[in-house]
Amino acid sequence: MNQKIKTRFAPSPTGFLHVGGVRTALFAWLVAQQNNGEFILRIEDTDQAREVEGSAQHIQDCLDWLGINWDEGPFYQSQRLDIYKEYAQKLIDSGRAYADPYTPQQVQEFREQAIKEKKPFLYRNHRPDKTAAWDGKSPLRFRSDPKAYSWKDEIMGDLSTGAEVIDDFILIKSDGFPTYNFAHIVDDNEMKISHVIRGQEFLASMPNYLNLYEAFDLNRPYFATIPHIMNEQGNKKLSKRDGAKDILDYKKEGYLPEALVNFLATLGWNDGTEQEVFSISELKEKFSLDRVGRSGARFDERRLLWINGSHIRGLKLEDLYQKVEGYWPEEAKDHDKSYKKQVLGLVQERLKYFAELPELTRFFFTDLALNPELISTHKQLKKYESGQLKDLLQKAKASLETTDFSAEQIQEALNKLLQETGEKPAVLFSLIRIATTQAPASPELAGSLSVLGKETSLIRIGTQIERL
Ligand code: GLU
Repeated sequence: MNQKIKTRFAPSPTGFLHVGGVRTALFAWLVAQQNNGEFILRIEDTDQAREVEGSAQHIQDCLDWLGINWDEGPFYQSQRLDIYKEYAQKLIDSGRAYADPYTPQQVQEFREQAIKEKKPFLYRNHRPDKTAAWDGKSPLRFRSDPKAYSWKDEIMGDLSTGAEVIDDFILIKSDGFPTYNFAHIVDDNEMKISHVIRGQEFLASMPNYLNLYEAFDLNRPYFATIPHIMNEQGNKKLSKRDGAKDILDYKKEGYLPEALVNFLATLGWNDGTEQEVFSISELKEKFSLDRVGRSGARFDERRLLWINGSHIRGLKLEDLYQKVEGYWPEEAKDHDKSYKKQVLGLVQERLKYFAELPELTRFFFTDLALNPELISTHKQLKKYESGQLKDLLQKAKASLETTDFSAEQIQEALNKLLQETGEKPAVLFSLIRIATTQAPASPELAGSLSVLGKETSLIRIGTQIERL
Protein backbone atom coordinates (compact mmCIF):
# COMPACT_ATOMS: atom_id res chain seq x y z
CA MET A 1 0.00 0.00 0.00
CA ASN A 2 1.36 3.40 -0.95
CA GLN A 3 -0.88 5.38 1.33
CA LYS A 4 0.53 6.24 4.73
CA ILE A 5 -1.08 4.19 7.47
CA LYS A 6 -3.19 6.39 9.65
CA THR A 7 -5.65 5.15 12.22
CA ARG A 8 -7.85 6.86 14.73
CA PHE A 9 -9.65 6.38 17.98
CA ALA A 10 -12.90 8.29 17.92
CA PRO A 11 -14.70 7.97 21.25
CA SER A 12 -17.84 9.82 22.20
CA PRO A 13 -17.34 11.51 25.57
CA THR A 14 -20.39 9.92 27.14
CA GLY A 15 -18.94 8.28 30.24
CA PHE A 16 -15.91 6.44 31.49
CA LEU A 17 -13.76 4.38 29.20
CA HIS A 18 -13.88 0.64 29.81
CA VAL A 19 -12.09 -2.35 28.32
CA GLY A 20 -14.18 -2.35 25.13
CA GLY A 21 -13.33 1.19 24.14
CA VAL A 22 -9.71 0.96 25.12
CA ARG A 23 -9.19 -2.27 23.23
CA THR A 24 -10.43 -0.57 20.06
CA ALA A 25 -7.97 2.25 20.68
CA LEU A 26 -5.17 -0.24 21.30
CA PHE A 27 -5.77 -2.20 18.09
CA ALA A 28 -5.83 1.02 16.07
CA TRP A 29 -2.67 2.25 17.80
CA LEU A 30 -0.85 -1.05 17.23
CA VAL A 31 -1.67 -1.01 13.52
CA ALA A 32 -0.23 2.51 13.26
CA GLN A 33 2.82 1.73 15.40
CA GLN A 34 3.87 -1.32 13.48
CA ASN A 35 3.58 0.38 10.10
CA ASN A 36 5.41 3.52 11.03
CA GLY A 37 2.08 5.23 10.68
CA GLU A 38 0.11 7.73 12.69
CA PHE A 39 -2.61 7.43 15.25
CA ILE A 40 -4.99 10.24 16.02
CA LEU A 41 -7.50 10.97 18.74
CA ARG A 42 -10.84 12.45 17.79
CA ILE A 43 -13.46 13.28 20.38
CA GLU A 44 -16.89 12.80 18.83
CA ASP A 45 -18.87 15.27 20.86
CA THR A 46 -21.83 15.91 18.62
CA ASP A 47 -24.54 14.55 20.87
CA GLN A 48 -24.74 17.22 23.48
CA ALA A 49 -27.50 15.54 25.43
CA ARG A 50 -25.36 12.45 26.06
CA GLU A 51 -22.14 14.23 26.84
CA VAL A 52 -20.69 13.65 30.31
CA GLU A 53 -18.54 16.32 31.82
CA GLY A 54 -14.94 15.30 32.35
CA SER A 55 -15.26 12.37 30.00
CA ALA A 56 -12.97 13.75 27.26
CA GLN A 57 -10.24 14.34 29.84
CA HIS A 58 -10.83 10.93 31.35
CA ILE A 59 -10.37 9.28 27.96
CA GLN A 60 -7.02 11.03 27.54
CA ASP A 61 -5.93 10.08 31.06
CA CYS A 62 -6.67 6.43 30.34
CA LEU A 63 -4.75 6.43 27.07
CA ASP A 64 -1.87 8.28 28.71
CA TRP A 65 -1.64 5.77 31.50
CA LEU A 66 -1.61 2.85 29.07
CA GLY A 67 1.00 4.51 26.87
CA ILE A 68 -1.35 4.69 23.88
CA ASN A 69 -0.01 8.00 22.67
CA TRP A 70 -1.56 9.89 19.78
CA ASP A 71 0.31 11.77 17.06
CA GLU A 72 -2.41 14.30 16.35
CA GLY A 73 -5.32 15.68 18.29
CA PRO A 74 -7.39 15.55 20.24
CA PHE A 75 -9.74 16.95 17.63
CA TYR A 76 -13.19 17.91 18.83
CA GLN A 77 -16.00 17.52 16.35
CA SER A 78 -17.94 20.29 18.05
CA GLN A 79 -15.24 22.66 16.83
CA ARG A 80 -15.48 21.52 13.24
CA LEU A 81 -19.10 22.39 12.43
CA ASP A 82 -18.10 24.59 9.51
CA ILE A 83 -16.34 21.70 7.83
CA TYR A 84 -19.45 19.52 8.08
CA LYS A 85 -21.55 22.36 6.65
CA GLU A 86 -19.19 22.64 3.69
CA TYR A 87 -19.47 18.94 2.98
CA ALA A 88 -23.24 19.13 3.43
CA GLN A 89 -23.39 21.92 0.90
CA LYS A 90 -21.62 19.72 -1.64
CA LEU A 91 -24.36 17.15 -1.24
CA ILE A 92 -27.09 19.78 -1.46
CA ASP A 93 -25.49 21.10 -4.64
CA SER A 94 -25.33 17.68 -6.22
CA GLY A 95 -28.93 16.96 -5.27
CA ARG A 96 -27.94 14.34 -2.69
CA ALA A 97 -29.30 16.06 0.41
CA TYR A 98 -32.58 17.71 1.24
CA ALA A 99 -34.29 19.54 4.05
CA ASP A 100 -36.57 17.23 6.01
CA PRO A 101 -40.02 18.83 5.70
CA TYR A 102 -41.85 16.71 8.25
CA THR A 103 -42.86 17.37 11.83
CA PRO A 104 -42.26 14.61 14.40
CA GLN A 105 -46.03 13.96 14.42
CA GLN A 106 -46.05 13.36 10.69
CA VAL A 107 -43.12 10.97 10.97
CA GLN A 108 -44.96 9.15 13.74
CA GLU A 109 -47.93 8.73 11.40
CA PHE A 110 -45.67 7.29 8.70
CA ARG A 111 -44.33 4.82 11.20
CA GLU A 112 -47.77 3.72 12.30
CA GLN A 113 -48.82 3.34 8.70
CA ALA A 114 -45.79 1.11 8.04
CA ILE A 115 -46.62 -1.05 11.05
CA LYS A 116 -50.20 -1.43 9.83
CA GLU A 117 -48.98 -2.46 6.40
CA LYS A 118 -46.41 -4.77 8.00
CA LYS A 119 -43.62 -3.05 6.09
CA PRO A 120 -40.34 -1.71 7.46
CA PHE A 121 -40.42 2.03 7.94
CA LEU A 122 -38.02 3.88 5.64
CA TYR A 123 -37.68 7.61 5.23
CA ARG A 124 -36.90 7.26 1.59
CA ASN A 125 -40.46 6.03 0.95
CA HIS A 126 -41.64 9.45 2.06
CA ARG A 127 -39.08 11.49 0.26
CA PRO A 128 -40.81 14.75 -0.82
CA ASP A 129 -40.83 15.61 -4.53
CA LYS A 130 -39.78 19.13 -3.94
CA THR A 131 -38.27 20.67 -0.87
CA ALA A 132 -37.56 24.19 0.21
CA ALA A 133 -33.92 25.26 0.46
CA TRP A 134 -32.37 24.06 3.69
CA ASP A 135 -32.38 26.85 6.26
CA GLY A 136 -30.41 24.97 8.89
CA LYS A 137 -33.43 24.78 11.20
CA SER A 138 -34.76 21.45 10.03
CA PRO A 139 -32.69 18.27 9.77
CA LEU A 140 -30.76 17.74 6.59
CA ARG A 141 -31.27 14.30 5.12
CA PHE A 142 -29.20 12.27 2.72
CA ARG A 143 -30.88 11.37 -0.56
CA SER A 144 -29.77 7.77 -0.69
CA ASP A 145 -29.31 5.67 -3.77
CA PRO A 146 -30.16 2.17 -2.53
CA LYS A 147 -28.12 -0.65 -4.01
CA ALA A 148 -26.44 -3.86 -3.00
CA TYR A 149 -22.86 -3.79 -1.76
CA SER A 150 -20.00 -6.17 -1.25
CA TRP A 151 -16.94 -5.15 0.62
CA LYS A 152 -14.00 -6.58 2.45
CA ASP A 153 -13.55 -6.22 6.16
CA GLU A 154 -10.01 -6.81 7.42
CA ILE A 155 -11.36 -8.86 10.33
CA MET A 156 -14.78 -10.11 9.25
CA GLY A 157 -13.75 -11.03 5.70
CA ASP A 158 -15.97 -10.63 2.64
CA LEU A 159 -19.32 -9.07 3.45
CA SER A 160 -22.34 -8.11 1.41
CA THR A 161 -25.82 -6.66 1.84
CA GLY A 162 -28.87 -5.91 -0.25
CA ALA A 163 -30.31 -2.48 -0.96
CA GLU A 164 -33.15 -2.74 1.57
CA VAL A 165 -31.25 -1.36 4.54
CA ILE A 166 -30.13 1.85 2.86
CA ASP A 167 -32.15 4.88 3.85
CA ASP A 168 -32.28 8.68 3.86
CA PHE A 169 -30.51 9.16 7.16
CA ILE A 170 -29.94 12.51 8.86
CA LEU A 171 -26.70 14.29 8.03
CA ILE A 172 -27.15 17.38 10.16
CA LYS A 173 -29.60 17.60 13.01
CA SER A 174 -31.86 20.54 13.69
CA ASP A 175 -29.45 21.68 16.45
CA GLY A 176 -26.79 22.24 13.79
CA PHE A 177 -24.63 19.28 14.87
CA PRO A 178 -23.83 16.50 12.42
CA THR A 179 -24.77 12.90 13.09
CA TYR A 180 -22.07 10.29 13.64
CA ASN A 181 -23.05 8.69 10.33
CA PHE A 182 -22.10 11.83 8.47
CA ALA A 183 -19.37 13.42 10.56
CA HIS A 184 -17.10 10.41 10.83
CA ILE A 185 -16.96 10.02 7.05
CA VAL A 186 -16.12 13.68 6.60
CA ASP A 187 -13.45 13.54 9.29
CA ASP A 188 -11.93 10.25 8.23
CA ASN A 189 -11.54 11.77 4.79
CA GLU A 190 -10.23 15.13 6.01
CA MET A 191 -7.81 13.42 8.38
CA LYS A 192 -6.67 10.95 5.72
CA ILE A 193 -7.51 7.89 7.78
CA SER A 194 -6.37 4.74 5.99
CA HIS A 195 -7.95 2.19 8.35
CA VAL A 196 -11.28 2.61 10.10
CA ILE A 197 -11.05 0.25 13.06
CA ARG A 198 -14.14 0.20 15.22
CA GLY A 199 -16.63 -1.91 17.12
CA GLN A 200 -19.24 -4.24 15.77
CA GLU A 201 -22.14 -1.91 16.60
CA PHE A 202 -21.47 0.06 13.42
CA LEU A 203 -21.52 -2.88 11.04
CA ALA A 204 -25.27 -2.72 10.40
CA SER A 205 -24.91 0.84 9.08
CA MET A 206 -22.09 0.03 6.66
CA PRO A 207 -24.34 0.03 3.56
CA ASN A 208 -25.42 3.57 4.41
CA TYR A 209 -21.82 4.63 4.87
CA LEU A 210 -20.79 3.05 1.58
CA ASN A 211 -23.61 4.89 -0.14
CA LEU A 212 -22.38 8.16 1.31
CA TYR A 213 -18.75 7.52 0.26
CA GLU A 214 -20.10 7.06 -3.24
CA ALA A 215 -22.20 10.21 -3.13
CA PHE A 216 -19.01 12.11 -2.28
CA ASP A 217 -17.02 10.11 -4.77
CA LEU A 218 -14.52 9.20 -2.09
CA ASN A 219 -12.21 6.22 -1.98
CA ARG A 220 -13.14 3.89 0.82
CA PRO A 221 -10.68 3.38 3.62
CA TYR A 222 -9.88 -0.13 4.85
CA PHE A 223 -12.47 -1.30 7.34
CA ALA A 224 -11.82 -3.49 10.34
CA THR A 225 -14.72 -4.43 12.57
CA ILE A 226 -13.83 -5.67 16.03
CA PRO A 227 -16.35 -8.08 17.58
CA HIS A 228 -17.88 -7.28 20.94
CA ILE A 229 -16.25 -8.36 24.15
CA MET A 230 -18.58 -10.90 25.73
CA ASN A 231 -19.27 -11.48 29.41
CA GLU A 232 -17.57 -14.36 31.16
CA GLN A 233 -20.32 -16.84 30.24
CA GLY A 234 -20.03 -15.77 26.63
CA ASN A 235 -23.79 -15.27 26.26
CA LYS A 236 -24.04 -11.50 26.00
CA LYS A 237 -22.07 -8.38 25.37
CA LEU A 238 -19.97 -7.31 28.34
CA SER A 239 -21.64 -4.56 30.34
CA LYS A 240 -20.80 -2.53 33.39
CA ARG A 241 -22.83 -5.02 35.40
CA ASP A 242 -20.54 -7.88 34.34
CA GLY A 243 -17.49 -6.07 35.61
CA ALA A 244 -16.62 -3.70 32.77
CA LYS A 245 -15.19 -1.04 34.97
CA ASP A 246 -13.50 2.27 34.56
CA ILE A 247 -9.97 1.74 33.18
CA LEU A 248 -8.57 4.12 35.77
CA ASP A 249 -9.88 1.80 38.51
CA TYR A 250 -7.26 -0.68 37.34
CA LYS A 251 -4.67 2.00 37.82
CA LYS A 252 -5.91 2.70 41.35
CA GLU A 253 -5.91 -0.99 42.21
CA GLY A 254 -2.32 -1.32 41.15
CA TYR A 255 -2.34 -3.03 37.80
CA LEU A 256 0.61 -2.49 35.51
CA PRO A 257 -0.33 -0.62 32.34
CA GLU A 258 1.78 -3.00 30.25
CA ALA A 259 -0.15 -5.94 31.72
CA LEU A 260 -3.50 -4.37 30.93
CA VAL A 261 -2.31 -3.67 27.38
CA ASN A 262 -1.20 -7.30 27.13
CA PHE A 263 -4.58 -8.49 28.42
CA LEU A 264 -6.54 -6.24 26.05
CA ALA A 265 -4.44 -7.18 23.04
CA THR A 266 -5.04 -10.86 23.66
CA LEU A 267 -8.77 -10.35 24.14
CA GLY A 268 -9.72 -11.63 20.72
CA TRP A 269 -6.28 -11.76 19.16
CA ASN A 270 -3.48 -14.32 19.31
CA ASP A 271 -0.27 -14.77 17.37
CA GLY A 272 -1.12 -18.31 16.31
CA THR A 273 0.70 -19.91 19.24
CA GLU A 274 -0.29 -20.54 22.85
CA GLN A 275 1.63 -17.50 24.04
CA GLU A 276 -0.41 -15.25 26.32
CA VAL A 277 2.17 -12.98 27.91
CA PHE A 278 3.53 -10.35 25.55
CA SER A 279 5.61 -7.24 26.06
CA ILE A 280 4.53 -4.06 24.31
CA SER A 281 7.35 -4.34 21.80
CA GLU A 282 6.38 -7.93 21.00
CA LEU A 283 2.82 -6.77 20.42
CA LYS A 284 3.98 -4.05 18.09
CA GLU A 285 5.89 -6.61 16.14
CA LYS A 286 3.34 -9.41 16.09
CA PHE A 287 -0.12 -7.88 16.14
CA SER A 288 -2.17 -8.21 12.98
CA LEU A 289 -5.82 -7.54 12.21
CA ASP A 290 -6.18 -10.77 10.29
CA ARG A 291 -5.56 -12.76 13.46
CA VAL A 292 -8.34 -11.02 15.37
CA GLY A 293 -11.16 -13.51 15.94
CA ARG A 294 -14.50 -12.97 14.26
CA SER A 295 -16.54 -13.97 17.26
CA GLY A 296 -16.61 -12.16 20.58
CA ALA A 297 -13.84 -12.87 23.08
CA ARG A 298 -14.85 -13.60 26.65
CA PHE A 299 -13.87 -11.21 29.36
CA ASP A 300 -12.20 -13.20 32.13
CA GLU A 301 -10.87 -11.12 34.96
CA ARG A 302 -8.90 -14.05 36.36
CA ARG A 303 -6.88 -14.08 33.18
CA LEU A 304 -6.14 -10.41 33.71
CA LEU A 305 -5.00 -11.18 37.27
CA TRP A 306 -2.78 -13.95 36.00
CA ILE A 307 -1.25 -11.78 33.27
CA ASN A 308 -0.71 -8.93 35.71
CA GLY A 309 0.90 -11.33 38.18
CA SER A 310 3.30 -12.57 35.56
CA HIS A 311 4.31 -9.03 34.58
CA ILE A 312 4.85 -8.28 38.29
CA ARG A 313 7.05 -11.36 38.65
CA GLY A 314 9.09 -10.15 35.70
CA LEU A 315 9.99 -6.85 37.36
CA LYS A 316 13.29 -6.20 39.08
CA LEU A 317 12.74 -5.94 42.82
CA GLU A 318 13.88 -2.34 42.94
CA ASP A 319 11.43 -1.38 40.14
CA LEU A 320 8.62 -3.16 41.88
CA TYR A 321 9.53 -1.39 45.11
CA GLN A 322 9.22 1.99 43.40
CA LYS A 323 5.88 1.08 41.90
CA VAL A 324 4.22 -0.22 45.07
CA GLU A 325 4.96 2.89 47.05
CA GLY A 326 1.59 4.08 48.26
CA TYR A 327 0.18 0.57 48.56
CA TRP A 328 1.86 -0.58 51.80
CA PRO A 329 -0.32 -1.19 54.84
CA GLU A 330 -0.51 1.67 57.32
CA GLU A 331 1.57 -0.38 59.79
CA ALA A 332 4.56 -0.39 57.44
CA LYS A 333 5.18 3.31 57.65
CA ASP A 334 7.87 3.15 60.35
CA HIS A 335 9.79 0.33 58.73
CA ASP A 336 12.85 0.92 56.67
CA LYS A 337 13.34 0.28 53.01
CA SER A 338 15.55 -2.76 53.37
CA TYR A 339 13.00 -4.58 55.51
CA LYS A 340 10.14 -3.65 53.19
CA LYS A 341 12.15 -4.76 50.21
CA GLN A 342 12.76 -8.14 51.77
CA VAL A 343 9.04 -8.48 52.44
CA LEU A 344 8.31 -7.46 48.88
CA GLY A 345 10.79 -10.00 47.57
CA LEU A 346 8.84 -12.69 49.38
CA VAL A 347 5.40 -11.68 48.09
CA GLN A 348 6.44 -10.82 44.54
CA GLU A 349 5.76 -14.43 43.55
CA ARG A 350 2.11 -14.25 44.47
CA LEU A 351 1.18 -10.59 44.18
CA LYS A 352 -1.55 -10.21 41.55
CA TYR A 353 -2.13 -6.46 41.91
CA PHE A 354 -0.73 -3.88 44.29
CA ALA A 355 -3.88 -3.23 46.30
CA GLU A 356 -3.45 -6.77 47.66
CA LEU A 357 -0.24 -5.77 49.37
CA PRO A 358 -1.69 -4.81 52.79
CA GLU A 359 -3.57 -8.08 53.12
CA LEU A 360 -0.53 -10.11 52.08
CA THR A 361 2.03 -8.32 54.22
CA ARG A 362 0.41 -6.74 57.26
CA PHE A 363 1.66 -9.44 59.63
CA PHE A 364 5.25 -8.54 58.76
CA PHE A 365 4.72 -5.17 60.37
CA THR A 366 2.39 -5.84 63.27
CA ASP A 367 1.13 -8.69 65.47
CA LEU A 368 -2.28 -9.67 64.18
CA ALA A 369 -4.91 -10.75 66.68
CA LEU A 370 -5.08 -14.50 67.19
CA ASN A 371 -7.62 -15.99 64.82
CA PRO A 372 -8.78 -19.42 66.10
CA GLU A 373 -10.79 -19.98 62.93
CA LEU A 374 -7.65 -20.38 60.89
CA ILE A 375 -7.12 -23.66 62.71
CA SER A 376 -10.72 -24.72 63.35
CA THR A 377 -11.61 -24.39 59.65
CA HIS A 378 -8.31 -25.67 58.25
CA LYS A 379 -8.82 -28.83 56.19
CA GLN A 380 -6.13 -30.83 57.99
CA LEU A 381 -5.61 -29.06 61.27
CA LYS A 382 -9.24 -29.20 62.34
CA LYS A 383 -8.86 -32.98 62.75
CA TYR A 384 -6.25 -32.56 65.51
CA GLU A 385 -6.76 -32.20 69.27
CA SER A 386 -5.40 -28.98 70.66
CA GLY A 387 -2.95 -30.97 72.81
CA GLN A 388 -1.42 -32.50 69.71
CA LEU A 389 -1.08 -29.12 68.03
CA LYS A 390 0.50 -27.65 71.14
CA ASP A 391 2.98 -30.47 71.23
CA LEU A 392 3.89 -29.95 67.58
CA LEU A 393 4.37 -26.21 68.06
CA GLN A 394 6.57 -26.79 71.11
CA LYS A 395 8.79 -29.10 69.12
CA ALA A 396 8.93 -26.56 66.30
CA LYS A 397 9.83 -23.78 68.68
CA ALA A 398 12.61 -25.75 70.28
CA SER A 399 14.09 -26.72 66.97
CA LEU A 400 13.85 -23.22 65.44
CA GLU A 401 15.49 -21.77 68.54
CA THR A 402 18.71 -23.62 67.68
CA THR A 403 19.03 -22.00 64.24
CA ASP A 404 20.59 -18.70 63.21
CA PHE A 405 17.29 -17.88 61.48
CA SER A 406 18.70 -17.74 58.01
CA ALA A 407 16.16 -19.13 55.53
CA GLU A 408 18.50 -22.08 54.83
CA GLN A 409 18.87 -23.14 58.45
CA ILE A 410 15.17 -22.70 59.05
CA GLN A 411 14.40 -24.89 56.05
CA GLU A 412 16.76 -27.55 57.32
CA ALA A 413 15.18 -27.48 60.75
CA LEU A 414 11.70 -27.71 59.26
CA ASN A 415 12.66 -30.67 57.11
CA LYS A 416 14.15 -32.47 60.07
CA LEU A 417 11.00 -31.77 62.01
CA LEU A 418 8.89 -33.38 59.31
CA GLN A 419 10.91 -36.55 59.68
CA GLU A 420 10.88 -36.56 63.46
CA THR A 421 7.15 -35.93 63.82
CA GLY A 422 6.06 -37.95 60.79
CA GLU A 423 3.64 -35.16 59.91
CA LYS A 424 2.92 -33.85 56.42
CA PRO A 425 3.96 -30.33 55.38
CA ALA A 426 0.27 -29.48 54.94
CA VAL A 427 -0.08 -30.02 58.69
CA LEU A 428 3.18 -28.95 60.24
CA PHE A 429 4.01 -26.02 58.00
CA SER A 430 0.43 -24.75 58.01
CA LEU A 431 0.41 -24.79 61.77
CA ILE A 432 3.66 -22.84 62.07
CA ARG A 433 2.52 -20.49 59.36
CA ILE A 434 -0.74 -19.73 61.12
CA ALA A 435 0.97 -19.28 64.48
CA THR A 436 3.48 -16.81 63.08
CA THR A 437 1.23 -14.85 60.72
CA GLN A 438 -2.42 -15.19 61.82
CA ALA A 439 -3.16 -14.54 58.18
CA PRO A 440 -5.12 -16.72 55.76
CA ALA A 441 -2.27 -16.70 53.26
CA SER A 442 1.40 -15.86 53.33
CA PRO A 443 4.54 -16.39 51.29
CA GLU A 444 6.87 -19.33 51.53
CA LEU A 445 7.47 -20.30 55.18
CA ALA A 446 11.22 -20.40 55.76
CA GLY A 447 11.75 -17.10 53.97
CA SER A 448 8.90 -15.45 55.84
CA LEU A 449 10.17 -16.59 59.23
CA SER A 450 13.63 -15.41 58.41
CA VAL A 451 12.40 -11.95 57.46
CA LEU A 452 10.11 -11.78 60.51
CA GLY A 453 13.15 -12.54 62.64
CA LYS A 454 13.88 -14.91 65.46
CA GLU A 455 12.43 -12.92 68.30
CA THR A 456 9.09 -12.11 66.70
CA SER A 457 8.65 -15.59 65.27
CA LEU A 458 9.33 -17.35 68.54
CA ILE A 459 7.15 -14.99 70.56
CA ARG A 460 4.28 -15.54 68.15
CA ILE A 461 4.66 -19.32 68.33
CA GLY A 462 4.73 -19.01 72.12
CA THR A 463 1.51 -16.98 72.14
CA GLN A 464 -0.24 -19.55 69.98
CA ILE A 465 0.88 -22.36 72.29
CA GLU A 466 -0.59 -20.56 75.30
CA ARG A 467 -3.91 -20.06 73.55
CA LEU A 468 -4.36 -23.61 72.25
N1 GLU B 1 -17.97 7.86 18.36
C1 GLU B 1 -18.12 6.48 18.08
C2 GLU B 1 -18.19 5.74 19.41
O1 GLU B 1 -17.75 6.26 20.42
C3 GLU B 1 -16.87 6.03 17.34
C4 GLU B 1 -17.02 5.01 16.36
C5 GLU B 1 -15.84 4.95 15.40
O2 GLU B 1 -14.76 4.58 15.83
O3 GLU B 1 -16.01 5.33 14.25
O4 GLU B 1 -18.70 4.67 19.50
